[in-house]
This record gives sequence, C-alpha cells and structure tokens, in this order.
Amino acid sequence: MTANRKGPPPALPSPPLGKVFRNLFRAWGPQHWWPGRTRLEVVVGAILTQNTNWANVEKAIANLRRKRLLSVRALLATPVNTLSEAIRPAGYYNQKAERLKAFAGFLQQRYGGSLHRMFCDSTPELRQRLLSVPGIGPETADSILLYAARRPVFVVDSYTRRALKRHGWIRGNETYDEIAALCEKELPAEVQLLNELHALFVRLGKTHCRTQPRCRGCPLEKLLPPKGPVQ
Ligand code: SF4
Repeated sequence: MTANRKGPPPALPSPPLGKVFRNLFRAWGPQHWWPGRTRLEVVVGAILTQNTNWANVEKAIANLRRKRLLSVRALLATPVNTLSEAIRPAGYYNQKAERLKAFAGFLQQRYGGSLHRMFCDSTPELRQRLLSVPGIGPETADSILLYAARRPVFVVDSYTRRALKRHGWIRGNETYDEIAALCEKELPAEVQLLNELHALFVRLGKTHCRTQPRCRGCPLEKLLPPKGPVQ
C-alpha cells in the first residue's frame, strides 16, 4: 500500500485480518458504504461524521442539499453562520462549518475548486495535503481517500482499535499510523475489500464489540485469545 504512513509498525503478532474479513462478511454481507450521492457529499459526510452518528449527519446533509449548499462554490460563498445553522443536527456545528469552509478554500486554492483535479494526486501526496487542512485528521483523510478517491487505505477508527486490542493484536497505545500500517501489511490493496472491512468493523463495534463486549454469537468469537477478550 502507498499511504506513506509515519513510523514502522510495532512488533506484534500479525492480526489475521483475512479471517476477520471473511467471518464478518459471511455474517453480515456487503454494507453498501459510503452512503453519499456524490464525491463531494462523501467528503462533506467524512467531515461532519466526526464525533457524531450517521443519522445526524444525514439530517445535516439533507439540510445542505435543500438549501443548495452542496457545491464547492456555495460552501465558499456562504457565511459560516448560515452554514453552521444548516448543519446543526451534526453537532459541533460552528467548528464543523469552519472545517467545511477550510476544505472548500483548500480545494479552491490548490485545485481551482475541482475534486477531479484533487483526485489526480498520488495517494501519499493527497494524504499529506488533506492533513494540512484545519480539522482534517488521519481518520477523516483516510475516509476521504478510501470512499471518495477510491484508494486502497485502511481506515482506523475507535471501533477497530477496540476490537484489535481485545484480541491481543495491538497493545492499544499505538499511533494511528502504526495501526494502519500493521493492518495494511496484512491485507491486499483492494479498495472494495477495505471499503467493506471498515464498514464491517463499525457494525461490529455497534452490535457486539461495544463498551461491554458481547462475545457470545459474535462473528469473531472463534478468534478470541484462550482467556477471552484482553481488558
Ligand atoms: S468476540 Fe468479543 S472481543 Fe472479539 S470482536 Fe466480538 S465482542 Fe469484541
């Protein structure tokens, strides 16, 4: 994979992610992510979904669509308070409105407002540039790369981190890039597989691998360490 991760992966037993994927996919099938109508909508959704659930993001996106604010030009021209009012259901709306405007400004300045031109960059180059936009961290950048640019990158979120730790495949204090590099090493660089796997990890975290794990009947139960989940 070519996401230009910082630092080497930690010395740990390799997570059997091929098996993880097969078990989850056999149990739940395709998840049909990312639920955005356009690539801009996917990018906007990736920014709005920080610290909130998808149902709230959908309401915010519906508002943006209804008010005809889902274009780069509109995001640039609309005052931040109008934008924040429209995305209020997504929470942290003032901060997220600033982030949407920061992204639109970045797109305009560097690529003349063209997502198509932005997606012509190489994966490491684009990742680095996205990370320079205020409010875009590694998880958001990788979600944009995977779901909008269709690049083969592994997205690490809190659900993934928690499940990997409970199985003893990470210690839990690794950086984002260390976990992503560890996982990318174990998987083929296939966009569709990585797309499904991230969506399946999210489903896992919402159904079984919650704050209190519900291991009985979980598709990954057979992959637990002999003494059960690591605390
Ligand atoms: S088996 Fe238990 S620890 Fe493993 S993913 Fe399922 S709920 Fe989490």
